[in-house]
Amino acid sequence: MKAVLIPGDGIGKEISESAKQISAVLNTGIEWEEFHAGAEYFEQSGNLIEPGLIEAIEQDGIALKGPTATPIGKGFRSINVQLRQRFGTYANLRPVHSRIGVKSRYENVDLVVIRENSEDLYMGLEYKIGTDTAHGIKLITRQASERIARFAFEYARAHGRHLVTCVHKANIMKYTDGLFLEAFNHVAESYPDIAHNSVIVDAMTMKLVIDPTQFDVIVAPNLYGDILSDLCSGLVGGLGFAPSANIGDHQVIYEAVHGSAPDIAGKDLANPSALLLAMGMLLKDHGMSEKADALEHAVDEVIRKGEHTTRDIGGTAGTREFTDAVIAELEAAE
Ligand code: NAD
Repeated sequence: MKAVLIPGDGIGKEISESAKQISAVLNTGIEWEEFHAGAEYFEQSGNLIEPGLIEAIEQDGIALKGPTATPIGKGFRSINVQLRQRFGTYANLRPVHSRIGVKSRYENVDLVVIRENSEDLYMGLEYKIGTDTAHGIKLITRQASERIARFAFEYARAHGRHLVTCVHKANIMKYTDGLFLEAFNHVAESYPDIAHNSVIVDAMTMKLVIDPTQFDVIVAPNLYGDILSDLCSGLVGGLGFAPSANIGDHQVIYEAVHGSAPDIAGKDLANPSALLLAMGMLLKDHGMSEKADALEHAVDEVIRKGEHTTRDIGGTAGTREFTDAVIAELEAAE
């Protein structure tokens, strides 16, 4: 099986090296087609994306992507947003699990954030009106809102989940979020076997911090979904353990939720777990559940033993030492 690998910027090279090594040890048989994209590639070549990358994702249908940096408030548009729009990856799936050995506020979190990935304020429809005013457009359609709601209920059904919660701010944004909520409630009627409710986004942040175990599957428009999924990753130990999948009808792009971490890039300090867990999602989706479980177990064992963990979770190991420890766990389990 062929899959595209995009190392990306900052810590991307280090963590994708870790993923390649572990893929080989797991004998996944994946032939990685490596392509460059991001701010560093732009500086070298004047292009954001290496020629051939788009065609390769189109053909392979699968990509594992490292983080790519986007300048704030100026310069080019986010590569992530461009890829999501190009491949119509309308659903962003972010599972959030507590991990044994990772110090966090909660020990029993098991929820999934499903973020609508194609519209809302992320369409880039913004412009300046003179020098002192700027205008951004929040676009919400019934079609995309129903599509993501259906995705959430189908996901819940397929994974034995019992509750889907819609997050919105329809009390204030009556037309946009009102439409999102209306579409959700309409779709919910077709899934009488799965409970559903809705929570206003500000109350949701408070409820998640007080007791995340009251939620199961959360579905939200693009911006709230982005913010809530980072919040949720903070509940279980931070961005170092948060994987995600950008899912379209024909292509899926797996990636870590975190960014390029410029503050620690190139120093062998990054925790590769989130990208490894994203590779685990890829393996599960392609008939390699046992290998995905072995990978998760090996990561958990390294964390539980605590001898080779990275600094973000209180250890002293670097990316390479952590990766070697995961490989040793995989080899010991064989
Ligand atoms: P970030 O996620 O890169 O970093 C936030 C903090 O978390 C930093 O202190 C960083 O050192 C730490 N961190 C992140 N990942 C880590 C890891 N694997 N191991 C250990 N520590 C880790 O967020 P940021 O600083 O806001 O963004 C940096 C750049 O990344 C920006 O250009 C942003 O646009 C981009 N970004 C890209 C993606 C993506 O490609 N999917 C996602 C988010 C941000």
